[in-house]
Amino acid sequence: MATQKRVWLFRDGNRSLRDLLGGKGANLAEMMNIGLPVPPGFTITTEVCTDYNANGRQLPDGLIDEIKAALADVEKELGKTFGDPNNPLLLSVRSGARFSMPGMMDTVLNLGLNDEIVNALSLVADPRFVYDSYRRFIMMLSDVAYSDHYEHITKHDFEHMFYDLKAKLGVTEDLEVPAESLKSLCDDYKAHVIKQTGKQFPQDAHEQLDAAITAVFRSWNNERAIIYRRKEKIDDSIGTAVNVQAMVFGNRGDDCGTGVAFTRNASTGENVIFGEYLMNAQGEDVVAGVRTPMPISELAKQDPVIYKQFEETCDVLEKHYKDMQDIEFTIEHGKFYILQCRSGKRTGPAAVRIAVDQVKEGLITKEDAITRVDPNLLTQCLLPVIPTNAKYNVIARGLPAGPGAATGVAVFSSDRAAELGKGGAGERVILVRADTNPDDLKGMLAAQGVLTERGGMTSHAALVARGFGIPTVAGCSEISVGSDHFVIKATGQIVKEGEFISLNGGLGEVISGQVPVEEAKMTGDFGEYMSWADEFRGKFGVRTNADTPKDTELAIKLGAEGIGLCRTEHMFFEGERRPVVQRMILATNDAERQVALDELLEFQREDFKGIFEVLGGRPCTVRLIDPPLHEFMPNREKLIEEVAALHALGKSDPEKEAMLKAVEGMHEINPMMGLRGCRLSIVFPQIVEMQTRAILEGASAVVKAGGSAVPEIMIPLVGHVNELRFVRQRLEATAAAVVTEQGVSVDYSFGTMIEVPRGALTADEIAVEASFFSFGTNDLTQMTFGFSRDDSDRFLKPYVAEKILPGDPFESIDQDGVGQLMKIAIQKAHTVRPDIKLGICGEHGGEPSSVKFCYDIGLNYVSCSPYRVPIARLAAAQAALGKGVSDK
Ligand code: PEP
Ligand code: MG
Repeated sequence: MATQKRVWLFRDGNRSLRDLLGGKGANLAEMMNIGLPVPPGFTITTEVCTDYNANGRQLPDGLIDEIKAALADVEKELGKTFGDPNNPLLLSVRSGARFSMPGMMDTVLNLGLNDEIVNALSLVADPRFVYDSYRRFIMMLSDVAYSDHYEHITKHDFEHMFYDLKAKLGVTEDLEVPAESLKSLCDDYKAHVIKQTGKQFPQDAHEQLDAAITAVFRSWNNERAIIYRRKEKIDDSIGTAVNVQAMVFGNRGDDCGTGVAFTRNASTGENVIFGEYLMNAQGEDVVAGVRTPMPISELAKQDPVIYKQFEETCDVLEKHYKDMQDIEFTIEHGKFYILQCRSGKRTGPAAVRIAVDQVKEGLITKEDAITRVDPNLLTQCLLPVIPTNAKYNVIARGLPAGPGAATGVAVFSSDRAAELGKGGAGERVILVRADTNPDDLKGMLAAQGVLTERGGMTSHAALVARGFGIPTVAGCSEISVGSDHFVIKATGQIVKEGEFISLNGGLGEVISGQVPVEEAKMTGDFGEYMSWADEFRGKFGVRTNADTPKDTELAIKLGAEGIGLCRTEHMFFEGERRPVVQRMILATNDAERQVALDELLEFQREDFKGIFEVLGGRPCTVRLIDPPLHEFMPNREKLIEEVAALHALGKSDPEKEAMLKAVEGMHEINPMMGLRGCRLSIVFPQIVEMQTRAILEGASAVVKAGGSAVPEIMIPLVGHVNELRFVRQRLEATAAAVVTEQGVSVDYSFGTMIEVPRGALTADEIAVEASFFSFGTNDLTQMTFGFSRDDSDRFLKPYVAEKILPGDPFESIDQDGVGQLMKIAIQKAHTVRPDIKLGICGEHGGEPSSVKFCYDIGLNYVSCSPYRVPIARLAAAQAALGKGVSDK
């Protein structure tokens, strides 16, 4: 139970109280204290939300009195009274968690209006404004307070009634609807509430306020907020604060307006204020993407005095927070107010550019620059782009709202996108919507790209797209979106569901069909930024998992310092080699097997030579064959079917039958625990002898040609030291023989993977035989939990949803269990071999929080797939600095 103060006036808070007041509340307080024009209000803390949820959704005792006291303070400051028809104080009620979750929770504006107040106000203020505010309020409060319990009382239902009214009046714009019609719409809305809920829309201002506050707390657990938190790895237990603030109105006439701005361009990072606004509108109109707003440069022409004030505010905020800010403002009768500021969401390329520019401007240090970019955002800097010289057919243009290029089939609902796209059938889809709202999150995440007809650069669609790196074209008014197609207005061309389209998110282009894409460039700001990360990372290495010269080359371009895992079996899968591998497996005697192995030796030697050449003397950990041999054979079930089908026709195929017999002979109930890894090397020593020969002959060839090669030969799946000793002794003999034959000196070593729990627990014995360990955390996780790495998705998802586990342990290291085994292994290994080289090559090697863990427990390097190398470099630098943005 919270014991401290639960309701904070803005003037009593500050930015350091983010955990308690939420990001929005803490920043409102901070802005008020640095003298910016913030309407007064107060924040109900995040602790109250936690209590509310823990106590069966009850507001804690005494809270209402604290709220009333704070309200009295605001009333006094403004000389208005909440609920007073003659001089009413009206309020906004908004969520605000510690981490920004744009649009995911509920908001109520214009709170405090009722029939009596509206009647009184309409006599002294513009009646159109009064009834417009009231209809918005009825809609918002009903939606957030009742739609969980009653059907057809969502915002959408009310919007529909408004659309119908506009259609009846023959108008398209909200502003064309006269006061009288809005007044009768309010009556219709209230009648709708009674019809749906059996209750009157609340007329008591305090009852309204209680309903709005509890609704905002409840919205912490609505579906879209939960999806967002899962995606962003935000802790479910931290709760949201509620901000209650005096309303200022942007919809009060033509000298009023509202807008959203970024102090720098959030797509490109360019140091130019980027914003959008609408005159005579409320904030929701801009962010919900229902009306496409005007660029902020227009405001400079329309009202230079206000624009100057806006520009100065942006400047003050950036200098104060030393970061790009995302702000919301309102103009009421020519007076400027700021309603929110927060660190602005930005694309990966923008994050890097802003960080580099701000260092050069002297605003932040290199250390700040390194700690503030989320390593995962760097993936966006590597997103494919359409080559500048490519020819393609642009069918429409909109706003460049999310980075990168995307191709997929058009789909027109989020459900359909989720069904067909990522996480569903796995097809490439482009989600096309008239506008998006936060409920579209799941569809957006399943899509390659998003296209919307309405909404600006600051709409939810754009914000979410930038945050998650989804190529997006928003506000594309050149198209008209229907339920299963869109029409290009100018030409009448129709694009139907299932047809391919492409998006160029960087330029806002909508393209017919599929387009070619190319790799992004690694130079410029990105190159400079990564070089700073490397300065802080120091000696902690980043290698790559690669098994071809092409992948190796790419990884080196991305900053890899060597190969941490070359999975040699991948070389066995390639076209012409597979039949040779099969002959090797099917051989009935050693001589036959040797013939096939000699053929494979030729291939593998060239493979390794190619990789060592590209590596140019960087180390290469080559892992000897690991998977069960049946993986190289035809599918058992299919063979059974084929042989049975032949038999049914009275025919037979001796070759197929022999193959089936061999495959049956190899069949294992549980192959991941079966004849694989070092066990294979013990049962079929010739295979790994051939591989060792190929590695060292390939390395010798490079050395003879004047280069250098550093092979580290790695024996997988060791659980007992005797396994390693047995294999290593035989391979050492082969290695020594090859080096003597070749007559050159190659700097090779032998080591092992730690991926079996027993291996970790007996690491002091194993380290006697190994000059390096690489943690294979994929298998180590599989075997520690006893979760199949191939089939656990079905229960891991519910495990995470039910909070049985904090996350997927195959994604981020389970530090308490698997991590503990790693620590034990390191500590034991050091007792016998203090200088043992330690790395990780499981998938975790490219995941920021796991990289930090690896750094903290004293590994020498991490290894990950090529595209994750920059992520690992930055995560390692953040680990070295002990600070990073992804520490949620
Ligand atoms: C591992 O188990 O972590 C590993 C890298 O090996 P593989 O994924 O090839 O089994
Ligand atoms: Mg493994």
